[in-house]
Amino acid sequence: MGHRAAPVMSQISLNMPLRRIYSDAPGRTTGRTEGTPMKRYSAFAIAREAFRHHTGWTRAWRSPAPKSRYDVVIVGAGGHGLATAYWLGKNHGITNVAVLEKGWLGGGNTGRNTTIIRSNYLQDPSAALYEKSRSLFETMSQDLNYNVMFSPRGVLMLAQTEHEKRGYLRTAHANALQGIDTRFIGPKEVKEICPIMNTEGPRYPVLGGLWQKRAGTARHDAVAWGYARACSDMGMDIIEQCEVTGVTRDGGKVTGVDTTRGRIATDKMGIVVAGHSGRLAEMAGFRLPIESVPLQALVSEPIKPCMDIVVMANTVHGYLSQSDKGEMVIGGGTDAYNAYTQRGSFHHIEETVRSLIEIFPMISRLKMLRQWGGIVDMTGDRSPILSKTPVDGIFINCGWGTGGFKATPGSGFAFAELMATGKSPLTDAFSLDRFREGRFIDESVAAGVAH
Ligand SMILES: Cc1cc2nc3c(=O)[nH]c(=O)nc-3n(C[C@H](O)[C@H](O)[C@H](O)COP(=O)(O)OP(=O)(O)OC[C@H]3O[C@@H](n4cnc5c(N)ncnc54)[C@H](O)[C@@H]3O)c2cc1C
Repeated sequence: MGHRAAPVMSQISLNMPLRRIYSDAPGRTTGRTEGTPMKRYSAFAIAREAFRHHTGWTRAWRSPAPKSRYDVVIVGAGGHGLATAYWLGKNHGITNVAVLEKGWLGGGNTGRNTTIIRSNYLQDPSAALYEKSRSLFETMSQDLNYNVMFSPRGVLMLAQTEHEKRGYLRTAHANALQGIDTRFIGPKEVKEICPIMNTEGPRYPVLGGLWQKRAGTARHDAVAWGYARACSDMGMDIIEQCEVTGVTRDGGKVTGVDTTRGRIATDKMGIVVAGHSGRLAEMAGFRLPIESVPLQALVSEPIKPCMDIVVMANTVHGYLSQSDKGEMVIGGGTDAYNAYTQRGSFHHIEETVRSLIEIFPMISRLKMLRQWGGIVDMTGDRSPILSKTPVDGIFINCGWGTGGFKATPGSGFAFAELMATGKSPLTDAFSLDRFREGRFIDESVAAGVAH
């Protein structure tokens, strides 16, 4: 369904240049194929609409019927699929694109995650990709003219064993060489940054933490909505309630997809469906080295501001931040079994909250408000796959597991380059070949909880 959005003042980022706030600056080179041009959100537009009872807002994105053929079909309108379409248009001038979504836009993991953004990874290829992404978040609101509420409030990953401390010291050194701004801080500074924390816990006292100051959070839905609006404005078709049920091939080459809304021809296709990647690969006739597992999260009742950073505690396996509404956002590890269930379960609340209470005793007095789950796609080395596939014309972007929200803009940027040109320096190391050749990008031990 198209989304009618009346922007509020918060959609204007404070550091947005005045030229962009007060003008309907053109700045776009790719044309719209139908409908009226996207209206820029601005302080002036809000004032104007206030005077005419908000009757002048247009749909944020169109809701078109599928055409019979596109130059590129992207399966999956999550953040990564939409970002891929956006960069295909913006950087490579490819706008005859359809993004097909079986449910509603952003309704997969994009709308279900806990929004942590960081780039303090150990291995060079990961650090390059996640830092590219983090830096794109810095200007995303201005670039998309849509406030994604990027909040670089800082992410702290606690060290609670000597082994973990050594691991984070190693990552801090690696990050220094990679040009990523992180540092290892001691328990005293941890307590200063996050006073509500009990750093002298009974089982695992806090020995320090890996601190990334410009890491943080963003509003996950807004990232999807902002990209969708920009893609629609470039003339791309975002087609919701359109499930891909089959992939058609001519020998080793893709020719199109079968969908619940008919057959669509294309000779270039991107599979960007997270936990459903194995199913799409099966339709296309190849197998992936991934497994799908549920990952859950929950939020408490809203309380007054008490914590202005994100804390991840990998030894006890939980993480915590406070949303703009005041809810404490809580997550933990994946479920221990493979499933396609996008639901929460009671044991997860109990296990995760029990672990976090050791570090944050105040949580014991909170009521938990709601809980949900998503299906994440896990690779053996806990690194994503951005790759060509055995089928000519089909590219795959998956394996982000529990930590792909933070990669959304960078993943789209790099995957679009791979799809448009056949090569991208940011995706080279993440090809499917690495599993055959043993070139793993091992982030599993380094990341622990990868969010
Ligand atoms: C509870 C939870 C917490 C998380 N926390 C974090 C975090 O704090 N930080 C972080 O970086 N990451 C986090 N993640 C991971 C992150 O959410 C994902 O890695 C990321 O959102 C994946 O985005 P995507 O666009 O690839 O997938 P999705 O958003 O899942 O999009 C894929 C889309 O494909 C669609 N689709 C599937 N099959 C078909 C089909 N046959 N036809 C058409 N469409 C189809 C789906 O409906 C879906 O909308 C978390 C995930 C969960 C579940």
